[in-house]
Amino acid sequence: AVKAVDKKAILITGASSGMGFEAAKELASQGHSVYGAARRVERMAQLTEYGVHTIELDVTDEEACKDAVGRVVAERGRIDVLVNNAGYGSYGAIEDVEIDEARRQFDVNVFGLAALTKAALPHMRERRSGTIVNVSSMGGRLVSFMGGWYHATKYAVEALSDALRMEAAEFGIDVVLIEPGGIKTEWADIAADHLAESSKGGAYEQTAVKTAEGMRRQYSGKMMSDPDVVVRAISRAVNAKRPRPR
Ligand code: NDP
Repeated sequence: AVKAVDKKAILITGASSGMGFEAAKELASQGHSVYGAARRVERMAQLTEYGVHTIELDVTDEEACKDAVGRVVAERGRIDVLVNNAGYGSYGAIEDVEIDEARRQFDVNVFGLAALTKAALPHMRERRSGTIVNVSSMGGRLVSFMGGWYHATKYAVEALSDALRMEAAEFGIDVVLIEPGGIKTEWADIAADHLAESSKGGAYEQTAVKTAEGMRRQYSGKMMSDPDVVVRAISRAVNAKRPRPR
């Protein structure tokens, strides 16, 4: 367990499933004060057994994002770490994907992350210390077939993270990007569902259906990692000793 002095107040989104769920569990087990956020609170019930505080949060609701950060600060006196992990992939051919769906993906993956970050920064600046961990993807650097909009969101996450790292450095705030490869979670099924659905009756249907099947096969196979590799990366970012700011 971490020493009392190294105990961090952490808010992590996407804690109802996959890597966010596992990371919340691990960080709480290490002795940190962890707040797990997601829409499906019932899916986070098991986390409370590990001492994780759960917050019902849709990251597309900017006021709710402010409230979530506000709750951590009210209860812990600070927010040391924000882990922006909530996200999803809505795969589909560019011609097929409705602009509303593309926009929604940006709302979750990019603007949700931005809203939480904006809410956390003043508190971190005030204490001249803090870490923002953004879960991007290998797909923040290269694209996969029919994943155009997903990759567009993750490329955006990379750009914002790199820009913020420079801006926030003088306040003792660090920005860490995590770029996982394929991880066995619910992510691939959700992406494949969107892909099959968006192509129905259209020119790309046959290719899309084959691609979706391929994704499901690939993500249930041996090539994909378990969430623990990402949990380790998040844990390293949380527990890293950083030089004091100027
Ligand atoms: P999961 O689908 O298992 O988990 C996604 C989490 O995001 C859920 O807890 C979900 O909670 C949350 N979420 C989705 N939409 C919203 C929303 N509107 N508001 C709040 N929370 C939301 O996937 P992973 O664990 O794999 O994904 C975690 C992150 O890792 C994502 O950003 C994903 O893009 C990224 N990633 C995944 C990879 C993989 O191969 N699995 C590879 C690289 C990156 P709820 O639905 O309850 O709100």
